[in-house]
Amino acid sequence: MLWFYRCPNCGQELNVDWPSRLERRTCRHCRREHFAPTPPGMRLLAARPFVCGAVRRLMLNHAWRRRTDGSSKVALIAWPHNDPPDLTHPKGNGTPYAERQHDGTAGDCGNGWLDLDLPDAPGSCWVAAVALTDETGRLEMEECLLTGVE
Ligand SMILES: [Zn+2]
Repeated sequence: MLWFYRCPNCGQELNVDWPSRLERRTCRHCRREHFAPTPPGMRLLAARPFVCGAVRRLMLNHAWRRRTDGSSKVALIAWPHNDPPDLTHPKGNGTPYAERQHDGTAGDCGNGWLDLDLPDAPGSCWVAAVALTDETGRLEMEECLLTGVE
């Protein structure tokens, strides 16, 4: 999986193979070294080019299981493929973002879903990302299914 981000020095679009995202990189535009910004505290489960064309809404169905007591959040984030957001601050920067909080006790499991409306962006190919943020507890995603509808 490729992780798309903007160079923290010059703002140009870059990408890195997800397993190497924590390594020091050299920007091919400005030649300065940096670390790829990733969402703080989030465990990114998937980020992939997903839908083109007339899709106006993404739906994430997920089966989850709670490993420890407490709360966690599941987030669904989308961005046009050619315009990756600053994912260090995914909320409130105009990026389509939806989240659902899960509270409970260890061993709980269930199914949930998230809807995300996409803005009108003719011809865009969207990247969809699924992330978990553990606050006071730890949640595991057992399965997830992402679909796009008109
Ligand atoms: Zn740069």
